[in-house]
Amino acid sequence: MTYTSRKRVLVTGGAGFLGSHLCERLIERGDDVLCVDNFYTGTKDNVAHLLEDPHFELMRHDVTFPLYVEIDEIYNLACPASPVHYQRDPVQTTKTSVHGAINMLGLAKRTGAKILQASTSEVYGDPEVHPQPESYWGRVNPLGPRACYDEGKRCAETLFFDYFRQHGLRIKVARIFNTYGPRMAPDDGRVVSNFILQALSDEPITIFGDGRQTRSFCFVDDLVDGLIRMMDTPDDITGPVNLGNAAEITVRELAEAVIERTGSSSQLIFEPLPADDPRQRRPELSRAEESLGWAPSTDLAEGLTRTIDYFRRKWTANAAPGKAG
Ligand code: NAD
Ligand code: UDP
Ligand code: UDP
Repeated sequence: MTYTSRKRVLVTGGAGFLGSHLCERLIERGDDVLCVDNFYTGTKDNVAHLLEDPHFELMRHDVTFPLYVEIDEIYNLACPASPVHYQRDPVQTTKTSVHGAINMLGLAKRTGAKILQASTSEVYGDPEVHPQPESYWGRVNPLGPRACYDEGKRCAETLFFDYFRQHGLRIKVARIFNTYGPRMAPDDGRVVSNFILQALSDEPITIFGDGRQTRSFCFVDDLVDGLIRMMDTPDDITGPVNLGNAAEITVRELAEAVIERTGSSSQLIFEPLPADDPRQRRPELSRAEESLGWAPSTDLAEGLTRTIDYFRRKWTANAAPGKAG
């Protein structure tokens, strides 16, 4: 591949969990990647292995400020994704989703780039329709502690569709459901990383509420494949398209699966359910299958094993200096 035939791809939030996997995959397939991140929740460590690659560039930048670069495609992932982090500075969370979307759409408008928004199943809120199809408008509390994230992402979707209608931009909106895998930040409080870390250290596993709420977990490799396929679709496919895994389990069942796979002696403990925590969530995936020819291929057993292996290696490496081994 010659230098000039490479696509110039911008990944905002590229130093985060999903973004770092996406950068890796895009480079592997022959793109030039510009990773933009303000390191709010992401880290340089996530992309350290890419820094020497001539087709990778890392820029510290906050997407709430304008960005002038020349690119062909934009994956807009910048936004803290875990409740602990997006609720820490809720005003900044909304600004990141809304001002960030405006700036990236302005950039796409000026350069003619295709632009994909990493939206979320949270746009459905605590849903009354189950599983959730893209046609469902959702049930979001606009005043609650999750609203900065949910409403910010909903407004970003509105902006995408208004730039599409008003300015003819080539847009793609992917609604991502709970995704897990290696490089989840150990401190971001998401259920899969929390349970694995608690199990590996034989500490109590913290179930919020009675553990009967459900989620459907997608392995990161599948999700990244779905995002790239979505970007590659013809211009008439704008989405929104749900991306996730339809295998739904309760939080309690997840805890039991993690205990079994780690061989942990952890006990379950029950803590209060956070406000507005959705009771059930499962993607309706027929649009993804029809439009992208995509379906997830990694089941929870395999994905959990790979994620546990990752945390075990990290945990052992971190525990090693001066500790038991
Ligand atoms: P993450 O927190 O690991 O990554 C987000 C990245 O965005 C981080 O590197 C962070 O530093 C960066 N960022 C935050 N604010 C920024 C700003 N103002 N300017 C520049 N960079 C900024 O989370 P993730 O799980 O990798 O999520 C990536 C995207 O996917 C997010 O937009 C999230 O809403 C979406 N998403 C993720 C999930 C999931 O289960 N992981 C589910 C639904 C949607
Ligand atoms: N923008 C940007 N990079 C660009 C072009 C625009 O960050 O290459 C920002 C710009 O600061 C503006 C936003 O994108 O605030 C929206 O741009 P648009 O052209 O839609 O609106 P306008 O500039 O007319 O307000
Ligand atoms: N959860 C839990 N224990 C934890 C962390 C989360 O029981 O230590 C629950 C949480 O209340 C929610 C589900 O697990 O019902 C998924 O939480 P997460 O923050 O991972 O994702 P989201 O709520 O955004 O889907």
